[in-house]
Amino acid sequence: MSNQPFAGVVVAGAGPAGLAAAVRAREGGAQVVMLDDNPSIGGQIWRSEEAHPSSSRALTWFQKFRPSGAERITGARIIHGDTKRRLLVVEKHEDAFEMRYEKLILATGARELFLAFPGWTLPNVMGVGGLQALVKSGLPIEGKRIIVAGTGPLLLAAAAYFRNRGAIVPIIAEQADWSRVAAFGLRLSRNLRKLVQATSLRLALKNTTYLRSCWVEVAHGEGRLRTATLRTHKRVWNEPCDYLAIAYGFRANIELPLLMNCRTEGGVVRVNEFQHTSQEGIYCAGECTGIGGVDKSLIEGEIAGHAAAGLKDLAERLFKKRKRAHQFAAALERTFALRDELRKLPLDETIVCRCEDVTWRQLRPMHSWRSAKLETRCGMGPCQGRVCGPILEFLLGWHPESVRPPLFPARLESLVVSSETEESLHT
Ligand SMILES: Cc1cc2nc3c(=O)[nH]c(=O)nc-3n(C[C@H](O)[C@H](O)[C@H](O)COP(=O)(O)OP(=O)(O)OC[C@H]3O[C@@H](n4cnc5c(N)ncnc54)[C@H](O)[C@@H]3O)c2cc1C
Repeated sequence: MSNQPFAGVVVAGAGPAGLAAAVRAREGGAQVVMLDDNPSIGGQIWRSEEAHPSSSRALTWFQKFRPSGAERITGARIIHGDTKRRLLVVEKHEDAFEMRYEKLILATGARELFLAFPGWTLPNVMGVGGLQALVKSGLPIEGKRIIVAGTGPLLLAAAAYFRNRGAIVPIIAEQADWSRVAAFGLRLSRNLRKLVQATSLRLALKNTTYLRSCWVEVAHGEGRLRTATLRTHKRVWNEPCDYLAIAYGFRANIELPLLMNCRTEGGVVRVNEFQHTSQEGIYCAGECTGIGGVDKSLIEGEIAGHAAAGLKDLAERLFKKRKRAHQFAAALERTFALRDELRKLPLDETIVCRCEDVTWRQLRPMHSWRSAKLETRCGMGPCQGRVCGPILEFLLGWHPESVRPPLFPARLESLVVSSETEESLHT
């Protein structure tokens, strides 16, 4: 174990929110360290893009970050924290260390929401982000048939991405109905940048059928995916495919904020106008305060960074811009709310917790997340409920009752550091 010295502002997460927070806090004169468990900075959207940014916004923020003087530590996973001593326990490769903070900005982002339906655990059925990440790291998809299904604007962005890399995307299955999506499109047309983005996506997808009120009911195949059953109100049919890329929206990564005793509500972290949480000296920005896309993450990150550096007047100047990002986030939530029919997808034998092979039949008689964990081991595998927790929240309305360290499966040595930190909490 090695202990890191005190570092003024620690930023947890190097996505758009973390980058913007680190840049603004550094501009305000703070000493800044930004940590992320990925090997590169950029978060979910700009991961591995530092050398070749895919958009002008990514380029702008990488260019601001590099000369800022903020330190980055990548491949570093925060597994525990102690608000009294203001420190985090971090695991990096063979090392585990404590890092002290004066101010902490949590920018831990979000993860994809999966839904359980028959066949969802077959090989080649995967999250849109997971498939994108595999393609980015070299998976060839030329000529492969990919059905993109779920909800939200990410479906279009992902389908265009797969098409540009040579895949055939015959269908995008959007579960939201036509009238809601049309109203959302009308709203987008009032924002020039978003209108340009949406138009270029539609052009890139001109040979792809974009179905509304459509969802995947079953994925079929022996050993690997062969076809998917799609349903609309009018028909049910089987569509051949090599990959099924699914995205039913996102769930905020609130495990670290919960561990740091930050107040949450409705699955997101509560913050005040300066992005300050209920815990003294801890700020939160980006998807973990509410799902809203990259604009919201950037602007909240900037506000948190200014505020953490003590420059509240600069933060206040951004409030109006943030309000617009929040209005867009609210429209996203309304438009792409999940339909009730999706709650009826799992059959008795459908696996819900894929780490521990727990089926829907085993879970239905349970009364709570706690009893499910105790009696079936649901949520107790390597992902620690990150996948099945949100599925059960959607199906049964259960919320995880508590979060315990370590936040991720950790090496024994790291657990020693972690337990020393734990002990210190009680002395
Ligand atoms: C899988 C996925 C794919 C997406 N693809 C697109 C896309 O193609 N186009 C698009 O417009 N939007 C996409 N989005 C949405 C987009 O990522 C967000 O709008 C935006 O990136 C959010 O920025 P953020 O900084 O709030 O969070 P993120 O970008 O998610 O960054 C959070 C970072 O914190 C790190 N982190 C979390 N917990 C810890 C911890 N304990 N220790 C260390 N590091 C930690 C994460 O690894 C991550 O790098 C995607 C989202 C997801 C989840």
